[in-house]
Amino acid sequence: MDTVVESRRTESALANKGKYRRPSQAEAEAAVRTLIEWAGDNPDREGLAGTPERVVRAYEEFFAGYNEDPVAVLATTFEETAEYDEMIVLRDIRLESHCEHHLVPILGKAHIGYLPAGRVVGISKLARLVEVFAKRMQIQEALTSQIADTIQDVLKPRGVGVVIEAAHQCMTTRGIRKPNVSMVTSRMLGSFREDRTTRQEFLSVIGGQRNVSHES
Ligand SMILES: [Zn+2]
Repeated sequence: MDTVVESRRTESALANKGKYRRPSQAEAEAAVRTLIEWAGDNPDREGLAGTPERVVRAYEEFFAGYNEDPVAVLATTFEETAEYDEMIVLRDIRLESHCEHHLVPILGKAHIGYLPAGRVVGISKLARLVEVFAKRMQIQEALTSQIADTIQDVLKPRGVGVVIEAAHQCMTTRGIRKPNVSMVTSRMLGSFREDRTTRQEFLSVIGGQRNVSHES
């Protein structure tokens, strides 16, 4: 498949060519123990005894997206669409990710729109696609682009728009502590980028006169 839709894990796996060895569960639990001690608590006290194991299991959920192929998620398309050629928008998709700088949650919403060119995909697949990329270590900008680029590469629509608005706990609960700040990112491709009317239609459907500028 196109390089643009390769996951970053694939890239790093390629970079390491065979050198990657997944640590064992015991090694991962030992690492959590170390972090507990580093934070200043006693990993052997009763309340923390099962914590390394629980954290490792939580990591499996938080980062389940590394085990899934985003292209495969969009593999089933429908071509009998009665020539439907208007914009399809899925808005307010719950987004749960983790920032790759601090490994703390990024929580928000994703909105996806596209103008089909003969092929459409079930809307649950779009939500699934968001999840595959969100359940990885991310920055919001890359997450936004990966979703849009994959839709563009696989469905080959006339245009795609992806807008994500999210709060980053690395900003809200630590660092500069700005609790009400959310970050908005967007990626517009094809007609969403080139045609102002299309872009405006998308932005008004997803609910806003938000002033979303598209990245170049
Ligand atoms: Zn962060």
